[in-house]
Amino acid sequence: MRIPLLDVNAQNLPLESAFQEAFQRVIRSGRFILGPEVGELEEKIAELTGVRHAIGVSSGTDALLLALMTLEIGPGDEVLCPSFTFFATAGCIARTGATPVFVDSLESSFNIDVEDAARKVTSRTKAIIPVHLFGQMADMDAVMKLASDHDLAVIEDCAQSMGATCRGRAAGGIGTFGAFSFFPSKNLGGFGDGGMLVCDDDQLAERARCLRGHGSRPKYYHRYVGGNFRLDTLQAALLLVKLPHWRRWIAARRENAASYNEILKPFAANGLVHLPAEEAGYEHTWNQYTVRIADGRRDAIRQNMADQGVASEIYYPQPMDSQDCFRNLGQSGNCPVAARLANEVLSIPIYPELGAAGREAVVSAMLSSLETGAESRPLRV
Ligand SMILES: *Cc1c(COP(=O)(O)O)cnc(C)c1O
Repeated sequence: MRIPLLDVNAQNLPLESAFQEAFQRVIRSGRFILGPEVGELEEKIAELTGVRHAIGVSSGTDALLLALMTLEIGPGDEVLCPSFTFFATAGCIARTGATPVFVDSLESSFNIDVEDAARKVTSRTKAIIPVHLFGQMADMDAVMKLASDHDLAVIEDCAQSMGATCRGRAAGGIGTFGAFSFFPSKNLGGFGDGGMLVCDDDQLAERARCLRGHGSRPKYYHRYVGGNFRLDTLQAALLLVKLPHWRRWIAARRENAASYNEILKPFAANGLVHLPAEEAGYEHTWNQYTVRIADGRRDAIRQNMADQGVASEIYYPQPMDSQDCFRNLGQSGNCPVAARLANEVLSIPIYPELGAAGREAVVSAMLSSLETGAESRPLRV
């Protein structure tokens, strides 16, 4: 049984006729840029995030960039973000001319270590970007306390965590801005690139909306230097077909995670494997199920699973502080936990359509790989 990391066809093909209907409707409308479907999707995402404004954009990356541009962050400013994240978080900061300041992560949750963030605040720090990694939110109470102590804007990177909650509050609805992605591998995956920026502040939302279309208002009169960050009508129409199913897909991911945690628990007991956990007071959306494998065995175990037809991925093999493009910042090695995570993490298939048979195939490949990959440590329990 071959198990991919993600099976987009298993999710999309059952909805094919509804997609075709939406596609045909948009084609015939002749409205391809910011059409009525974009407005409808914006309203729905604002509602489920619990904020007043949502702005459809061209990608999750552009949602982050647009948030930073709206806050007028630029040269001379510093922005805190985790080192252990996808590149877009840090890349957007650098693209504004500001300096990303890399913060270490917590081993327990993979999320930003707010105590380390506090140590790295300076008089130039303007904002913090907590990333809700793998589908579970960062400790937003701690982030918001730090932000209010130092007057920082907060941009939640929710690319992997739409629908996640922290003490009853939704991802994206707590900070100054929330940035979502509809990249095909996210929990609400589109047909190409797309994203959404959410915000509760009327003035900031108004400025972000203007910046999304070259900063012009009215047309051809430019108040700001913006960009083209618009979401396509077609993309929004297709996402609206998927949105009613999205909670059910998260429930299936949660079921997969619970099953993995149960089956793999005995193997975690001996310390070679660390399982991801849903923290008390949090609702995890399990965009990734990421284990940690100690003792330098991760790559051998991954290869052994691949030989048995089970795909996995390393999110992420190199933290931001030691990336070539950020070497000039002189922060390399400042985040020791991030460095360790990069060597230990392995994400295994958790997509909603995996099913019990798929889970069993993954677990059996993993267990046999753990046994062969563990010469020096007994793994039998
Ligand atoms: C996917 C992702 C992004 C970027 O989203 P795109 O839509 O691919 O541009 C940003 N941050 C994180 C943490 C992501 O996982």
